[in-house]
Amino acid sequence: MSDTNTALDCLIIGSGPAGYTAAIYAARADMNPVMYTGMEPGGQLTTTTEVDNFPGYPNGTDGTAMMEDLKNQATRFGTDVRFGIATKVDLSKEIGGIHKVYVSDGAEEQEVLAKTVIISTGASAKYLGLESEQRLIGGGVSACATCDGFFYKGQDVIVVGGGDTAAEEATYLAKLCRKVTMLVRKDEMRASKAMQHRVNGTKNLEVLYNTELDEVLGGMVVEGVRIVNNQTQEKRELEVTGVFIAIGHKPNTDMFKGVLDMDETGYLITGAKSTKTNIPGVFAAGDVQDKEYRQAITAAGTGCMAALDAERYLASVEDMIEA
Ligand code: NDP
Repeated sequence: MSDTNTALDCLIIGSGPAGYTAAIYAARADMNPVMYTGMEPGGQLTTTTEVDNFPGYPNGTDGTAMMEDLKNQATRFGTDVRFGIATKVDLSKEIGGIHKVYVSDGAEEQEVLAKTVIISTGASAKYLGLESEQRLIGGGVSACATCDGFFYKGQDVIVVGGGDTAAEEATYLAKLCRKVTMLVRKDEMRASKAMQHRVNGTKNLEVLYNTELDEVLGGMVVEGVRIVNNQTQEKRELEVTGVFIAIGHKPNTDMFKGVLDMDETGYLITGAKSTKTNIPGVFAAGDVQDKEYRQAITAAGTGCMAALDAERYLASVEDMIEA
């Protein structure tokens, strides 16, 4: 029978570390999970080069290869991985209710019914949108200092942004790099006072206020940047090999607006020490509900939690029906 008339035990939306870890656990618990990969199978990690900080890879690994490993592990236990994008949802508010998720593979849309839904749609780093920035992503332009900072040891880099993420990334990079220059577009930082204090106390970190990135210079790899003072319009070039964009993330939650509880920036809200959303049988794991840590390993951890939460929920619904 097709999904349209049989409710799945577990539907997973999104294929980053959270989704695949949820799939491994759900498959091993005989929940026969079906995963829809989303637009970018493998998620954000497929846009980085090397991953050096995921436990279990003593020599590091390639982000895309790691996601392939996770996929193979999930399918080994029977996860049905399908290419498709969830476009809208009709979630039941009843305990034991059946959720409807509409998915599209680009050609046609179908309705998928599921008893539990694990949302692991992730978040996308925001970029400035400059042509040169987009062209050099993976060639010196990055949106993740903890992922890629190591490769710029002893070199000069810039960080764009003035929020907590930018401040945190800049101070992290300052420990590895020769010099870090932070470009802040206003005459003040948005980051918390504590983070600003840390930035100001870091010797090899210079903050340029009222300054924006005009262009990333270089053919195949970053060789420098042209920056502009937005008060005087004065432009100048800096020789750097790394450009870290830290202007915020956007959680991929548009389709859940008005349905699931989210904070003012769109991150799904889950219960303390759980992955439960405000709808029974619907769980959220990974960056879609985490603006604090945003690491592959923390995403994987919450993916595991979501599968365990889903399994317990299904068991409690079955107990209710039997009683
Ligand atoms: P924020 O939205 O807080 O900050 C984004 C920064 O990028 C701002 O300085 C903003 O400038 C700047 N920016 C945005 N668009 C552009 C652009 N086009 N060109 C240049 N600069 C731009 O995002 P964060 O990721 O820093 O933080 C998100 C949330 O996560 C916050 O609530 C933060 O407090 C929290 N967080 C907490 C941490 C912690 O507690 N350890 C660590 C990291 C994040 P402007 O101010 O001019 O708008």
